Amino acid sequence: MLDFSVRKSRNGMGLFSNSNFKKGDIVMEAMGKPAMAEELPNYPEMFGEYSLQIGENMYLGADGGIDDYINHSCDPNCGIYENNGTFYLKAIKDISGDEEITFDYSTDVKDGWEMECDCGKKRCRGIIGNFSSIPKETRERYIRLGVVPKFVLDSN
Ligand SMILES: [Zn+2]
Repeated sequence: MLDFSVRKSRNGMGLFSNSNFKKGDIVMEAMGKPAMAEELPNYPEMFGEYSLQIGENMYLGADGGIDDYINHSCDPNCGIYENNGTFYLKAIKDISGDEEITFDYSTDVKDGWEMECDCGKKRCRGIIGNFSSIPKETRERYIRLGVVPKFVLDSN
């Protein structure tokens, strides 16, 4: 827990790393109890922003943990990596201390969910949509990096 801090970022609160990570490092395990959408305390409000889909109608809801503060970026430094049914945040770039931790929400989007994006990156897509809304070369890069959950690959 000491490796991170929650503080103000470009759009609200964000999670920042206090240590360095190398590309390929596991940054943290995703927290929360697996639940169906309707069972989540924040359903349907804020459902998209604060839950991680881990399978067909299965989610990790907001649990009050620091991972609830991880923001989206269209050019992120992390991705969601699945191993034996456990979900992790994996560095897809070298991360230096004091950098905001982000991943591309479109690699893990809920059916029909969409949100405007103001991440400030040069490559910002303007809209966070489902996986197929990501440009092809970026999709292929995420797949190569192993940061697209299996249920997303299966449904696209
Ligand atoms: Zn963006």
